[in-house]
Amino acid sequence: MYQEIILDHYRNPHGRGLRDPFEAEVHHVNPTCGDEVTLRVHLDGDRLADVSYEGMGCSISQASVSAMRDLVVGRTVPEALETGEHFMTLMQSRGDPSVAEKLEDELEDAVAFAGVSKYPARIKCALMSWMALKDASARALSVTDPTTPTGGHQ
Ligand code: ZN
Repeated sequence: MYQEIILDHYRNPHGRGLRDPFEAEVHHVNPTCGDEVTLRVHLDGDRLADVSYEGMGCSISQASVSAMRDLVVGRTVPEALETGEHFMTLMQSRGDPSVAEKLEDELEDAVAFAGVSKYPARIKCALMSWMALKDASARALSVTDPTTPTGGHQ
């Protein structure tokens, strides 16, 4: 079942393509497997209005970007990073099904990568997109300057 979700995201990636406008673009590679992703973040305040991407590599790496995008668009950067922490926990679970069960609600389709946690060599494939998101979000926030008070938002 999990396998099917990964293949589905790989074959029909959600939100793929690089779009404007964006505040930050990053390029991340996973040299052990040859995976690559270029990822753009567009913020509305501290909310992720869009995450657009192009990439190539193994099915795990590419499906991971697609599943991640579904999860984080519309969330604030801190919320998205927290979701990333949950995904990291899943990747460290060594295939323990109770961890996947607990994180199912938070991770939605991304919980399908639970099986990857049994294969240390593949964990980096699944994590690449989340690393890219973290990097791009930090850069985007520094561009939009979060220290400026956001007056009219209440
Ligand atoms: Zn890979």
